[in-house]
Amino acid sequence: MENINLSDEELVGELWHWLIEDNLIKNSGEYDGRTGWNFCSGLLQQNYGIKMSPETIKHKFYSFFKELTGFDIYSKCPTCKNGEIVPRESRYGYFVSCSKFPNCDFKGPKKSRG
Ligand SMILES: [Zn+2]
Repeated sequence: MENINLSDEELVGELWHWLIEDNLIKNSGEYDGRTGWNFCSGLLQQNYGIKMSPETIKHKFYSFFKELTGFDIYSKCPTCKNGEIVPRESRYGYFVSCSKFPNCDFKGPKKSRG
């Protein structure tokens, strides 16, 4: 299969669908498990002919949200100091909020990229 180039945003879009919408990863803590990232690695190769290690995929996913919002995924929530920063998607794009939502209303700023 020929290689198809994906921008980081397109890559995260695909990861998002595989990880979140297909429920490969049920809850926040499991992002650090290897199963989902291994699965994504296989899907990338299968669908796009792209060889990328699970570690690289995870790094790109985390970096994307860090660059976009200034926050590390799964770091402590600065507002309630109890929940974790989790990635979210809305019709307006990607952002981060607190895993304790709606009890905590923290929402990371969405920075424009580039
Ligand atoms: Zn919080």
